[in-house]
Amino acid sequence: MAVSQLVDSRDVRFTLFEMLEVEKLNRFDAFKDFDRSVYEDTLKLAEKIAFEQFFPSNVDGDRIGLKFDAGKNEVKVPESFQKAFQAYLEAGFHILQFPQDMGGMGIPNSVSTAASEYFNAGNTALTMYCGSITGAIQIIQTFGSEEVINMFVPKMMEGKWGGTMCLTEPSAGSDLGPLKTKAVKQSDGTYLISGQKIFISNGEQDMTENIIHPVLARIEGDPDGTKGISIFVVPKYLVNPDGTLGERNDVVCAGIEHKMGLKGNATSTLNFGENGKCIGYLLGKEREGMKVMFMLMNAARIHTGLQAEAVSSAAYMHAVDYAKDRIQGTHILQSANKSAPRVAIIEHPDVKRMLLYMKSSIEGMRMLCYFLSHHEDIMHASTSEDEKKESMGIVEILTPIVKAGISDAGWLVTAEAIQVFGGYGYCQEYPVEQYARDVKVFSIYEGTNAIQSLDLLMRKMLMNPDMFNYKTLKKYMEGTIAKAKGVVEDKYIEPVAKGMKKLDEIVEMMAGQLMGGQIVELVSNATPLQQAMYPLILAWLHLWSLTITLPKAKALIGDAKGEDLKKLLQSNPEAAYYNGRVLSSQFFIGAEYPKFFGRVDCIMNNEASVVNVEPEIFS
Ligand SMILES: Cc1cc2nc3c(=O)[nH]c(=O)nc-3n(C[C@H](O)[C@H](O)[C@H](O)COP(=O)(O)OP(=O)(O)OC[C@H]3O[C@@H](n4cnc5c(N)ncnc54)[C@H](O)[C@@H]3O)c2cc1C
Repeated sequence: MAVSQLVDSRDVRFTLFEMLEVEKLNRFDAFKDFDRSVYEDTLKLAEKIAFEQFFPSNVDGDRIGLKFDAGKNEVKVPESFQKAFQAYLEAGFHILQFPQDMGGMGIPNSVSTAASEYFNAGNTALTMYCGSITGAIQIIQTFGSEEVINMFVPKMMEGKWGGTMCLTEPSAGSDLGPLKTKAVKQSDGTYLISGQKIFISNGEQDMTENIIHPVLARIEGDPDGTKGISIFVVPKYLVNPDGTLGERNDVVCAGIEHKMGLKGNATSTLNFGENGKCIGYLLGKEREGMKVMFMLMNAARIHTGLQAEAVSSAAYMHAVDYAKDRIQGTHILQSANKSAPRVAIIEHPDVKRMLLYMKSSIEGMRMLCYFLSHHEDIMHASTSEDEKKESMGIVEILTPIVKAGISDAGWLVTAEAIQVFGGYGYCQEYPVEQYARDVKVFSIYEGTNAIQSLDLLMRKMLMNPDMFNYKTLKKYMEGTIAKAKGVVEDKYIEPVAKGMKKLDEIVEMMAGQLMGGQIVELVSNATPLQQAMYPLILAWLHLWSLTITLPKAKALIGDAKGEDLKKLLQSNPEAAYYNGRVLSSQFFIGAEYPKFFGRVDCIMNNEASVVNVEPEIFS
């Protein structure tokens, strides 16, 4: 099916340059050389490669899929993946945000997040192979010894070697404490690794000549639980002193999963040390594996939210095009007229509602992802301790919301795209059913959404000293409310202000439960809290955007109505954009966000059935 774009490029620009004003990042030394034209070039190139090469390969990942050769323990990706992967690497997108003194391009994270949105919308399974190189470089560069950095990083920077992250085992999923993979120190300082990792994304592929696995393992004799876990770099091929590939290390792919979606990505079972010869190199210090892995996991969690947003965007773009083409029924105001012409389904109010729901959800997701990335930039680049601390607070509290909120919403938005297509949406002829299958896993991997919600409630909010993260977020929200007065109608401001008060009440109640030792009562509402905060935060971001879009829409459109307005929107894309963006934000705050108040009631009701229920009653 021919679509003209997978991501609304105008909205990408609005969010980056009009809301977040990322050009002003050049006040920091790290970004002083960049201006709008560099960012534009980056975004245009990302869009071009993503649309021309990633997108056509997406269906191959799903239909041709991966071929596992059990004799050689190797995985073959579809041919179209190879070319697209090379185009991504040649353009340097895997090192886009690394500092220039490290050989990267030093582009702010907020802009590289936007570039990544294009690739994930084109082919998210393929983008994961690309992103895993970046993640693995990051932890090796930060925590590796000089010898380990020199052994692996240069070839990964060149895009010649791929990466993974190996945590999960058959008995260690959400809880990594029981992890069994073992490491034994050798006299030369390396470690012999043995054990099995399952569900490893990018675990085997034929696009790079080597694959570098960061692996969690327990050194012999170290304590049980997560405190006894260390992390090692385990290459598929060992590396000779001159940097060339040496002999095959003792790590093999024992098989790949047959999944509901994301079929183009090799979710692998990896066996380490079946012959007692798997060599690994320690990263960081012994027993600090979780601390090191958290660097990778935090980035991966944010990326998972972005994946859900990007796939939702691709589904929405297909739904819009289909709704403009598909002729069915007459206009509702012509229902009594037997000779009325048939119209495109986009004329029907319910289809408009579905599209506005998708559009406003995706724009909200985009604002949330970019806002978080923008604060990552400030957190790293600012020289002011106060500014750094605030941005870190924002990143901390929003990471689980980006991961869990957007992945849950992505499942609903992609399902709505199927609905717009009617029966055709349920069939493979159109891509939306693939998008829905692909998006589901984002609520599961990188820590299930239940684990994200617990992290939000406990570590990021209630146990965060002085609830600094929460107070910082509220400060931003209050700032928007003050700014919106006199610009935006009160009916869009008041619900957000009221929602913040309600959230305060919930947080106070939950803090009381923590103090009073009502732990089961407290944690049983972790997911409902996360699910309530998500729409409130999106409503706030939509309110913020209205402070910008409303005056611009007014200036472009004036009092035009009816046919005049239609003509203006057809002839003036800027007027159409701002008009659409205003309506989208108004829809979200007025027609979608009020569900928040029902969610608040669900929490404040203090319904005790979850607390009282015993496993025996489920039959
Ligand atoms: C496609 C795919 C790709 C993946 N890629 C990787 C990868 O690259 N690297 C890697 O290491 N792993 C990877 N994983 C594994 C993934 O991270 C785990 O599946 C996930 O962490 C959940 O673990 P589990 O499957 O063992 O489920 P379990 O931990 O058994 O959870 C089952 C259910 O119980 C709930 N639950 C468990 N504990 C709690 C708790 N304390 N409180 C509340 N609820 C709880 C969960 O939320 C979930 O609903 C991948 C998985 C998939 C499907």
